[in-house]
Amino acid sequence: MLDMLQYEDIESLTAANLACQACGLRRGCTQVVISRGRPQSRVMLVGEGPGANEDRLGQPFVGAAGQLLDKILTAAELPREDVYITNVIKCRPPGNRLPKSDETKSCLPWLERQIELISPRLLVCLGALAGQTLISPNLRITRDRGKWHKYRGIDIVATYHPAALLRDSALKRPVWEDFKVIRDYYRNLAGEA
Ligand code: SF4
Repeated sequence: MLDMLQYEDIESLTAANLACQACGLRRGCTQVVISRGRPQSRVMLVGEGPGANEDRLGQPFVGAAGQLLDKILTAAELPREDVYITNVIKCRPPGNRLPKSDETKSCLPWLERQIELISPRLLVCLGALAGQTLISPNLRITRDRGKWHKYRGIDIVATYHPAALLRDSALKRPVWEDFKVIRDYYRNLAGEA
């Protein structure tokens, strides 16, 4: 088991994460995909894992779901420079299948240390996997989205993954309801600055 505390800043953590081969997913992907956005961000979004475009380009949320996410962030007045985006799993599962529990377990120390070093004020889980990983293994996204919790003292909320909205446009309304609350939370944060 790697000692994550040896990484005292996000740059050294990211460099080590890029070289990770701790689970079999690394053999089937092009590259490790870690983050988008400034480490100083106060809002941290956590998705599921890289898709084909992300695997090719080396950044999370750059495909169709990422474009939709960018529109949601703009509508919610969350500035790009204050949002850090990552995934639970850093390597693309073959065929975009869901990561297996042992793969999620192998990758979790990276995410946990990332959260410690970014130290955001707000965590937003995009989709069930992130919610089940950071909020509760029993989380059901249809039932539990929009409910606020704490993750190691940090406010955290889950909503649908943007890819789900691409499959079912009826989910746009609940996601927007969730992001309106996130927008108001962020406005309060901005008022503190
Ligand atoms: S998915 Fe995570 S644990 Fe597995 S090889 Fe990639 S970075 Fe390492």
